[in-house]
Amino acid sequence: MTEKTIMHLDMDAFFASVEQQCNPRLRGKPIGVIGSGARTVVTTASYEARPRGVKTGMTVVAAQRLCPEIILVEGNNTKYTDTCAQLVALYRDVTPFVEVFSVDEAFLDVTGSLKLFGSARAIAHCIKEKILKLFGLTCSSGIAPNKLLAKLASDLHKPDGLLEISAGEVPGFLEKLPVGKLCGIGAQVERKLAVLGIHTCGELGRADPVLLRHHFGIIGEVLHRMGRGEDESPVVPLEKTPEAKSIGHSMTFSRDILRKELLEAYLLQLSEMVGRRVRRSGFCGRTVSLTVRYADFTTFSRQHSLREPIQGSLELYRTAKNILNSFRLQQAVRLLGVSLSNLSKNSGQVPLFPTEKRWQAITAAMDAVNNRFGDFALTWGSLLNRYQHAGVISPAWRPEGTRETAFGGIKKT
Ligand SMILES: [Mg+2]
Repeated sequence: MTEKTIMHLDMDAFFASVEQQCNPRLRGKPIGVIGSGARTVVTTASYEARPRGVKTGMTVVAAQRLCPEIILVEGNNTKYTDTCAQLVALYRDVTPFVEVFSVDEAFLDVTGSLKLFGSARAIAHCIKEKILKLFGLTCSSGIAPNKLLAKLASDLHKPDGLLEISAGEVPGFLEKLPVGKLCGIGAQVERKLAVLGIHTCGELGRADPVLLRHHFGIIGEVLHRMGRGEDESPVVPLEKTPEAKSIGHSMTFSRDILRKELLEAYLLQLSEMVGRRVRRSGFCGRTVSLTVRYADFTTFSRQHSLREPIQGSLELYRTAKNILNSFRLQQAVRLLGVSLSNLSKNSGQVPLFPTEKRWQAITAAMDAVNNRFGDFALTWGSLLNRYQHAGVISPAWRPEGTRETAFGGIKKT
């Protein structure tokens, strides 16, 4: 196999840095980006807040206790996703092989670009400079023979880092490294490994594969390879994404809801969010799923598959509403989710019936307005005067968000 050069780019405190760029008064100060609503947590803490112990996922109260002068800023998804799209465009100037891993992380296969730029380091410097100049943001970059190690490298030098791990340096690097530093090895696996006396990657790489398989099943082999720094997963550009699985959105309410009409209004809003993403990515789908989480956290999903694939918000909404009305609610609802799966590329076929044609034209016009003026600039009458839910997206968001990226079969946690 030919030696590859993979680069991982990770924006530093992305949401917080973007907010500090937008508002100069926030620069150099400890800030925390939060969601809206009563149950919000800190999504990202700025580098000024981190030494005080403020961390992602912490409640606002806890963050304020550690750092009373922290400035809390309500996050704005559009800002982050727009910046992400511009960053991806910038990466594509270097190589067509760009895999968006999350809203602030991407993998680049730069193997084919080395000759042009001189070296991977030169590419990283060039990208970092451009990002700083254009957006005022810093990022950390890792360069290595595969994705697993490239991510490790960028994680080890933060913020504003640049670390290259060459093939020859890999064993030395991994020997004393705690297994939990590898992306894909979560706390649970780490604990299980510790019980077996395995703490470092070096130990993991030398462990008996039979023992690992016995304790972890098929994942045991993956772990064994990870311990030796092996990962053959390719960088998969978005447009090459193998059959997208589903496109969906969910929202957690600040107060549990029992009223059907209110739930239906949120359903319409969710359907519009999903519909727009489906259309933007050029997909259509046949299966609509509705997810409901009750106040006591009982969660379930119901699906309905249609004969013909759809991509319109209204069709999505009607199907989701039918599902919602097909059962009796047992409790107030805490979370509602809508997704479309069984996706295929939209053939761009023009509908035969005049009403369908009209709806397609209306949808296209609405999309055009909203693409230009922001989400929900033009919306359905029944959503007016309605509290607009604006939770902050998770950093695991990715454009067209249709794929679970995994290292050797272990989901990113
Ligand atoms: Mg980051």
